[in-house]
Amino acid sequence: MSAALRAVQAACLDCRACHDAGFQVESLSVFEGRPGQRAYLLGQAPGIVEGDERRPWRGRAGKQLRRWLDLEEETFYATFYCASVTRCYPGRVPGGRGDRAPSPPERELCARWRDEELRLLAPRLVVPVGGLAIQGLLEPLLGAAAKRLTGVIGETYERDGAIVIPLPHPSGASSWPHQPGNRDRLEQALAAIRAELAGLPGRQA
Ligand code: SF4
Repeated sequence: MSAALRAVQAACLDCRACHDAGFQVESLSVFEGRPGQRAYLLGQAPGIVEGDERRPWRGRAGKQLRRWLDLEEETFYATFYCASVTRCYPGRVPGGRGDRAPSPPERELCARWRDEELRLLAPRLVVPVGGLAIQGLLEPLLGAAAKRLTGVIGETYERDGAIVIPLPHPSGASSWPHQPGNRDRLEQALAAIRAELAGLPGRQA
């Protein structure tokens, strides 16, 4: 399995599918993980910092995510296989603020890497972070309900033998954690993730 996962990673590093299909992407693919990791984190897409460094969760959102999870940087990367819905920096919104959200066809093109990783890793815990990651993983289970953060954060699901615990995106641009009642939902999700992490075999403290 380890060789198969390494082969998938090598192919993903070389992937130019979005560029070849005419989509705007402004970095090479970004992810980090190794065979044997039992926790899988799925973000939306790398930002400009991650695209430059070619390492996930390097910017402010990553720092906030580690604060939420109460994990030091190296423990975070040792614990989670870090992937995302699309792997290449999608660039800025044309004429607007913030990063462009990857379009449905781009998400579809990139889903094969996620599916291969999940098949080969068979993680015990899967944490989708943010609306697009949650929809991609939970829509087959929940239908349109997967689009409502308020309905899914704080809940625990099972998918293909893994426990799935969604989180909102930790970007400062998201107002969701600051809305009434949502801090409690977030704390509930974080407590559930910590409990699952504590039970993973061979996990670094
Ligand atoms: S976003 Fe995904 S599918 Fe598109 S080029 Fe990057 S790795 Fe390939």
